Amino acid sequence: MRVCRFAILLWCLLGLLPGTFRPPSLPAAERGPTGARSAPAPGPRDRRGEPSGSRLARGATGEIVLPSAAPSREFDLVDLESVIPGLLTDVRYATPDNFTGKVVYPSARVFLRRPAAERLAAVAAFLARHHGLRVKVFDGYRPLSVQKRFWEILPDDRYVANPATGSKHNRGAAVDLTLVGPDGVDLAMGTAFDDFSERAGHGFRDLPARVLANRRLLRSVMAGFGFEPLASEWWHYDLKGWKQFPVEDVPLP
Ligand SMILES: [Zn+2]
Repeated sequence: MRVCRFAILLWCLLGLLPGTFRPPSLPAAERGPTGARSAPAPGPRDRRGEPSGSRLARGATGEIVLPSAAPSREFDLVDLESVIPGLLTDVRYATPDNFTGKVVYPSARVFLRRPAAERLAAVAAFLARHHGLRVKVFDGYRPLSVQKRFWEILPDDRYVANPATGSKHNRGAAVDLTLVGPDGVDLAMGTAFDDFSERAGHGFRDLPARVLANRRLLRSVMAGFGFEPLASEWWHYDLKGWKQFPVEDVPLP
């Protein structure tokens, strides 16, 4: 009897304490039609698990896409890291370590038009399988507004495409990349990325045989999968048929 009375007293006390033995109170807006709390809809998240912004979407095979202003699935801008396992990136434009000295990209994500992304995935798979190498990407799609900033800083079309016509990067059809060995070290290519000197050109032959061989390997594999080299930059490749893709100014997420 004493135990019973104690239990009733305890029940009453607990009932008076706010939040104890009571279902959590939720605002009506957070309740589903049955009154149960509805789970937030799973949206796309970036590789750090953070919500990635409303502009991004998921493609049919789970790839992350930045929809193009052009109304075609082929024109979607595909996040390379979502389609190339083990891809390495070094996006200098997302840091001050680039020729402008300023951060000009809001993030280090790299996007390419779907056909270019798929072909680059094939390049990466081929290099991994037959050469034990990985690709490291410096740049892909670049919004036209960023091209205008580049031009303001360096208005010289030997180094920067004039935004009046636009760069193939503005079309999402150009990629800047290098090769990385099994030891994680970049293969010797003779110059750094964005080295605006003649040493960076394919026609410059006064380089160690190893460097020439590395450039030749990158060039031949890229060509085999439908990319054309740029004479003045060993790191830059355009997808054949780049003209079909319009110059675009969709902001990077
Ligand atoms: Zn480039």
